[in-house]
Amino acid sequence: MGLHVLDEVNRCLECKQPSCQRGCPINTPIPAVIKLLKENKLDEAGKILFENNPLTTICSLICNHENQCEGHCVLGKKGAPVHFSAIENYISNAYAPKMIKGPAKSNGNRVAIVGSGPAGLTIAIILARYGYQVTIFESKDKIGGVLRYGIPEFRLPKSVLEDMQYRHIELKGIKIRPNIRIGDAIGIDDLFRDGYKAIFIGTGVWRPNVLHIKGETLGNVHFAINYLNNPSVYKLGENVAVIGAGNAAMDVARTAVRNGSRKVTCYSLTKEVVASDYEFKYAKLEGVEFIYNVKPVEILDDGIMIRKVKENDDGTFTEIEGSDEFCPSDSVLIAISQGPRNVIVSTTTGLKASDRGLLVADEFGNTSRPGIFASGDVVNGSRTVVEAVAHSKIVAETMHKYIQSLNE
Ligand SMILES: Cc1cc2nc3c(=O)[nH]c(=O)nc-3n(C[C@H](O)[C@H](O)[C@H](O)COP(=O)(O)OP(=O)(O)OC[C@H]3O[C@@H](n4cnc5c(N)ncnc54)[C@H](O)[C@@H]3O)c2cc1C
Repeated sequence: MGLHVLDEVNRCLECKQPSCQRGCPINTPIPAVIKLLKENKLDEAGKILFENNPLTTICSLICNHENQCEGHCVLGKKGAPVHFSAIENYISNAYAPKMIKGPAKSNGNRVAIVGSGPAGLTIAIILARYGYQVTIFESKDKIGGVLRYGIPEFRLPKSVLEDMQYRHIELKGIKIRPNIRIGDAIGIDDLFRDGYKAIFIGTGVWRPNVLHIKGETLGNVHFAINYLNNPSVYKLGENVAVIGAGNAAMDVARTAVRNGSRKVTCYSLTKEVVASDYEFKYAKLEGVEFIYNVKPVEILDDGIMIRKVKENDDGTFTEIEGSDEFCPSDSVLIAISQGPRNVIVSTTTGLKASDRGLLVADEFGNTSRPGIFASGDVVNGSRTVVEAVAHSKIVAETMHKYIQSLNE
């Protein structure tokens, strides 16, 4: 083990006002977990972690810790913070094999979960704990959403998702219907017809944002979210241009390098990348190059035409006329975020969407139609895994109360 977890545990100052916990979007009881570990109570620590966050193993690997728990640790002000991510990862991996309990006693109520990303999985796991008969409908062949089809293997091994599927889904009696997109052959009203008491929508954001420039439909151009779905089927060539400098751009750039591209360049509109500091540093370390304050104005078969921009104080950009430059590349990957698809909203009466196409739901997950609940990226736009889980914990309780009220 690179970092000795017990050394990290012993470095914790046990602050009376633990800012690490306040910095965690899901309020992980970090001091309590560390105290239990110091007392050799690994299983209790693991139980607390999984009860608070069913995706604790995943979060230990891919949360933006430097801005969350570790970014708030007081030790970080003068030196290295306590690396709680390593502690959480160790506990959750060591405790997971002990989670072998079967399904809870059925309460006789069916619920449908549309989408198996972090939001849908959280709702499914919590409602199964209450004894609901849960069925997940997933348009892809496997569960996980962005965890499986976006975040690359080198950051989140698929084995973590397989273990989660076995332990938290299959063992708990949750049914999965893969390869079915709700809103096509089967719609929301079919689910109500078949006795689902409540329906959860956690379909995320999968429609790539487009540049609206000439050349975007050429054969050498791909969208980040499509590429990450299955990188091995793409033939990118040696020289790759990545448009964008967020976390998804870092993922595609680093994946392209790992798949053999020799020169990978990210073109950023802003003067600094918007990706997290670590992702950016790793990308640079792995040889990815960055060009700042430019925007692509045309894509050609053999490269991109970029134009310099000036960043104004109000956050807008002014294009610098006459600054166009041609940058050769074999392929272009567009990584400028995603928006929601509207297949469910357009096929379901009474569901409201915002101007951006996001599903309208309140903080408790109530949509505009009773019995239908939503959370995660499809409501909040592109955010993070831990935010999707934290929001979905609240929504699961709303759904539970709603179904109880139907049965009174
Ligand atoms: C490339 C990339 C890297 C990222 N890296 C990080 C990271 O390191 N850390 C972090 O915290 N966050 C990261 N994020 C953001 C994070 O992954 C998302 O915020 C999170 O996955 C949102 O969860 P969700 O459940 O709302 O949606 P999703 O994960 O998008 O899951 C939605 C699911 O719904 C399914 N679906 C869609 N429509 C239908 C339908 N009609 N019927 C049935 N199923 C449907 C989809 O196939 C998918 O499985 C990243 C995002 C991207 C794109």
